Amino acid sequence: IVSYKNVSKSFGETTVLKNLDLDVAKGEKIALIGPSGSGKTTIIRMLMTLEEPTSGTIEVDGEMLWHKYDGDQLVPADEKHLRKVRGNIGMVFQQYNLFPHMTILKNCTVAPINVLGISKEEATERAKEMLEKVGLADKMENYPSQLSGGQQQRVAIARSLVMQPKVMLFDEVTAALDPELVGEVLEVIKDIAADGETTMILITHEIDFARDVADRVFFLDAGKIAEYGKPEDVLENPESERLQSFLSRFN
Ligand code: ATP
Repeated sequence: IVSYKNVSKSFGETTVLKNLDLDVAKGEKIALIGPSGSGKTTIIRMLMTLEEPTSGTIEVDGEMLWHKYDGDQLVPADEKHLRKVRGNIGMVFQQYNLFPHMTILKNCTVAPINVLGISKEEATERAKEMLEKVGLADKMENYPSQLSGGQQQRVAIARSLVMQPKVMLFDEVTAALDPELVGEVLEVIKDIAADGETTMILITHEIDFARDVADRVFFLDAGKIAEYGKPEDVLENPESERLQSFLSRFN
């Protein structure tokens, strides 16, 4: 459902991704691991249409993100096209950024009403279902400040799911949380992953979590996929010294 073909990305003189090829199947969960600065966030920012690739193409569900066909010519996508394809992708960041002046329920319904144009009733129904899924149905009428960081992050996950994206991106969603709150957020993501339908790309430093959730793990090193495969192979029997040394930090 997601396909990067020969994608490179530079910022000025600095090349952060080099000739990346990456395919993610529908319903598949992949984890991106690797040292800081290896390009993980850039990979998903391009998918979120926040960063344009310097070269190469990216497709989601058969539709190119940054290009479109004009007749049989490939031309850069315009803002209208970008807005449309962006709707296929949901993202949860380190910072949950809930609207502080809105209730939890409202936080989850405002985008589907305004962006997807669905009715308030339908948005509310979807939001309740998702808040139930993340275990926060009883907090609907509360405000973000009344919730713990872990609970707020679970709301952010529910809010994303309400949009029914085809692909969910998680960028170090537990990195800003107190250690005792990490588990509940990872559990929620595991639950969502277990439904099998949601395609997920996860950037994480939680190696055990990656092992549990991901169908495949990709080790990024200096802008390239250095090793990838099933978690038990990549994480238990790393081939390169770089990956061995990266993983040894977590033991
Ligand atoms: P981390 O785990 O620290 O988030 P990462 O693997 O996600 O790291 P990226 O955030 O993708 O790495 O960054 C890759 C490289 O690109 C870094 O060296 C970073 O400094 C550089 N970079 C990212 N965004 C920009 C930008 N907007 N302008 C210039 N350089 C950038």
